[in-house]
Amino acid sequence: MVTATRAPLKLEGLSVAYGETLALDHIDLDIEFGASLALIGPNGSGKSTLLNVVAGLVGPTSGTLTPRPVPHVAYVLQHHHREHWLPLTAGEVLRMGRYRDRGLLGRLVHRDRVALAEAAERMDVAGLLHRPFDELSGGQRQRILVAQALAQRPEVLLMDEPITGLDLASQRSILDLIDAESARGTAVVITTHHLDEARHCDRVALVAGKLVAVGPPDEVLAEETLRTVFGERVLGDHAEHAHHTELLMLDDHGHDH
Ligand code: ADP
Ligand code: MG
Repeated sequence: MVTATRAPLKLEGLSVAYGETLALDHIDLDIEFGASLALIGPNGSGKSTLLNVVAGLVGPTSGTLTPRPVPHVAYVLQHHHREHWLPLTAGEVLRMGRYRDRGLLGRLVHRDRVALAEAAERMDVAGLLHRPFDELSGGQRQRILVAQALAQRPEVLLMDEPITGLDLASQRSILDLIDAESARGTAVVITTHHLDEARHCDRVALVAGKLVAVGPPDEVLAEETLRTVFGERVLGDHAEHAHHTELLMLDDHGHDH
């Protein structure tokens, strides 16, 4: 069991502007190791931008993210169903998880093979590795991409809407993975539109450009809090089921761009 003695990643007064658009406005947020954090908020509220900043893909316009460099990050980008892939097998896509250490042409060593086999086992994709990646279902592809991230043995695992649009079995395996990775000391950050996925995490941050609320799921997912950001779009029949929190979607879809 990993205890949270390791200093968190810290976002302090962090802002990101794209030209005139202020995507993130003075965010103060700690991201703990050995814990999971769900980012929720409407489309365009800055969730992906926040992951991009942690991944080092986007620089803050002001404010800081420490420590620098951020410890080894693996990032599962939001998937797009009509994406075109090179004609690779699922196994080749998985092996990219070890290219950072080994290089494109380097031979995989024993340690790589162990990491790859373990990741394939954990995401239950060992039987898919010979198949063309393009021909897999959305859920199968997502499990390969998550396995690719796991094979990196990251210290920080970022996943942008990892379960959106997936079949229930794939959703389940990704939720289990969030638990298992945080239990082994990884800082896990996901974005989601699913209340049940947010509730599954140790902490939830509600963003709308600004950080509206952060804390345990019970606090942040309280109806009053959600309503401040989502207004009437929240919850539909939630009032009837307020004590009995089930599968509910925030917003229609996670695909704005
Ligand atoms: P979310 O992931 O919550 O939907 P994003 O982080 O994608 O939000 O976007 C936050 C805001 O920044 C939106 O207004 C979006 O249009 C804008 N934005 C995001 N990426 C870019 C970019 N590369 N260039 C310009 N504007 C962007
Ligand atoms: Mg996004």
